[in-house]
Amino acid sequence: MTDPSDHADLEHDPNDPDGTRGHAGASVTVPTTIVCVDCGGTCHLLTAPFDDGVGPVGFRPGDIVSYRCADCLDRWDVELDESDVN
Ligand SMILES: [Zn+2]
Repeated sequence: MTDPSDHADLEHDPNDPDGTRGHAGASVTVPTTIVCVDCGGTCHLLTAPFDDGVGPVGFRPGDIVSYRCADCLDRWDVELDESDVN
């Protein structure tokens, strides 16, 4: 005899050592500002981190994050990769 709700509880046990944490992809932390390559000004992060309600909030490898320079208004797109995972 199975109860679907019991199964769901197991799936969401945060203390499960063999659990599904990370199944949504490792989270990448990005700085909220970077230094503009062109003018040395401050570029502010335009892209909001994903929050799908599963796993950590943040960015994933392969995501493109965009910055806008406050001084020269240049836009910088940065692609994240596995080396950015922390
Ligand atoms: Zn700039």
